[in-house]
Amino acid sequence: MKAVYFYQHGGPDVLEFGRVSTPEPGQGYVLVRLRAASLNRLDLWVRQGWPGIKLEYPHIPGADGAGEIAVLGAGVSGWSIGDRVVINANLSCGSCDYCLSGFENRCRKWGLLGETQRGTYAQYLALPVVNVYPLPAEFSYEAAAAAGLVFHTAWHSLIQRGQVRRGETVLVVGASGGVNTASIQIAKFAGARVIVVGADARKLALAESLGADVLIDRSRDENWAKAVYQVTEKRGADVIIDNVGTTFPQSFQAAAKGGRILTVGNTGGARFEIDNRFIFSKHLSIFGSSMGTRQDFAEVMELVFARKLNPVIDRSFPLSDARAAHEYLEKGEQLGKVTLRIDDD
Ligand SMILES: [Zn+2]
Repeated sequence: MKAVYFYQHGGPDVLEFGRVSTPEPGQGYVLVRLRAASLNRLDLWVRQGWPGIKLEYPHIPGADGAGEIAVLGAGVSGWSIGDRVVINANLSCGSCDYCLSGFENRCRKWGLLGETQRGTYAQYLALPVVNVYPLPAEFSYEAAAAAGLVFHTAWHSLIQRGQVRRGETVLVVGASGGVNTASIQIAKFAGARVIVVGADARKLALAESLGADVLIDRSRDENWAKAVYQVTEKRGADVIIDNVGTTFPQSFQAAAKGGRILTVGNTGGARFEIDNRFIFSKHLSIFGSSMGTRQDFAEVMELVFARKLNPVIDRSFPLSDARAAHEYLEKGEQLGKVTLRIDDD
């Protein structure tokens, strides 16, 4: 099969496009003929590597994808060859205490497609049948691939962990990334008032088009925590979605008493100082999470298929141009998701 892979960590130039052997689906697995994939920042980090990361080479990146079932492995029932599917990248054992209590994303043997196993930048992918979800005929492979990881992650964070409720004020720190554009829509869907802090007018215009109620341009108003106070009658935000990390000091300032800070990542860097006095004196809670449960995936993808939540796609590249797609994502100027088309040759 054709695939994009690498043998060593580094910049986008380590990505190669060529032929590798097509995987075979084992017991309980299916082989999916992928038609689209989408990029996540995770793909860049895996490509760059970090101390202790162990990959099986050649490593194929990619967590998100959609296509149709090509081969059924032994013991798989309820599916047919040709069934359209979208992929849930969260890999779990299915038998540990966390899996049995429905928290597959806390699995003791947790893994992620494209990180701990070969991923979706390929014509074919073998994966457990529990990791595919039915894709309606009228919904495009590209939009499904663009929605998967970011909506799954944002849904678990806002709805399961953060319990965002109608009438609350939600502050989203960052306007244009995949998880943030999903979070804005999910917060609106939950009935919240949404404030977005963004880097420039272009990114804020996207947030507004997704339903954001209040826009704060941090290029013009550096002290955005104060701005949040002003637009909430000096109360602060009930829920703050902060996946930047280094902005936690401002997020603590912008939080209402009893506020919840939700985080699924740290695009600004992993280590930063926090002032603990904010946490106890304002009764703050910090909720971390990663990916989502199988139940979350089903719930949020049904809303995506019903077009109540809409993935934002910036640009599409053919699979053979994955290197250019990585370079584009690394520049950070995209508005929404960058996707890959996976053709027959
Ligand atoms: Zn498990």
